[in-house]
Amino acid sequence: MNTPRPSAAIEFVEVGPRDGLQNEKALIATADKLALIERAIAAGARRIEVTSFVNPKKVPQMADAEDVCAGLPQRDDVTYIGLVMNLRGAERALATGRINQLGAVCVATDRFAMANQGQTSDESVEAAKAIVALAKAHGRTAQVTIGASFGCPFEGEVSEDRVVAMAARLAEAGPVEVAIADTIGVGNPAHVTRLVERVRQAINPLPVRVHFHNTRNTGLANVWAAVAAGATVVDGALGGLGGCPFAPGAAGNVPSEDVVYMLERGGIATGMDLAKMIEASHWLAGVMERKLPGMVAQAPVFPKVAD
Ligand code: ZN
Repeated sequence: MNTPRPSAAIEFVEVGPRDGLQNEKALIATADKLALIERAIAAGARRIEVTSFVNPKKVPQMADAEDVCAGLPQRDDVTYIGLVMNLRGAERALATGRINQLGAVCVATDRFAMANQGQTSDESVEAAKAIVALAKAHGRTAQVTIGASFGCPFEGEVSEDRVVAMAARLAEAGPVEVAIADTIGVGNPAHVTRLVERVRQAINPLPVRVHFHNTRNTGLANVWAAVAAGATVVDGALGGLGGCPFAPGAAGNVPSEDVVYMLERGGIATGMDLAKMIEASHWLAGVMERKLPGMVAQAPVFPKVAD
């Protein structure tokens, strides 16, 4: 039963405007964030994490959350996700009238949960469930993410049983999916295969989403392992931007265009237009005024396009 098999298609979620940018020291103009969102949509993204509603003193890069929402393109076919850490953030997100889906985060270990959101791990699960309930009461949907699912910057190894139990509790609240996140990029494909399979069975029929950071260069291998084990929703950030203000040493997300190149070449549809993503990655490097970590955008186009 429930034999894992790679799906013929995955749903891609662009998280660059939030997770990609939140750790940048220099404040990015709201107009540039909106241009990034528009380019992601033009490249095929239909679910985009656009901002987070957190304390602007703690995450100054996200202080313009309401302004970003006010400028979002009016698209019925795009789901805009707003990340929230608590009910106050959720109320802010709902008040914009532009956020379709709340993104709730809980954390697998107590010490990281305390650093990230001032709660124990258990309290963070209850808070995430309350956020899902609030979203539903307002006719919206919610996604949930279990941060530090593969390792904790403070506690080290994380129990797989604990992550699976958390996923089962979260599923009871009725989110659109449950994600396991490698916030600090310590995962490896064998670990990913085991955990995705276990979480998938624990939350069935809800989908498993995966969120990887490429801190130790295992990000793409982890995406492939996750999809092969039955994850059907994959996060990425254009150019491989990213990090976490509360996790020491956290590096960028898996680069969206590298994920899409790998999956599409491997026969797994993503709904994304790689050429437009590469163009957007070049544009983003210009905005950031530096080379971005993603590699596909720096490589020659393959297969070669006739000129
Ligand atoms: Zn992340």
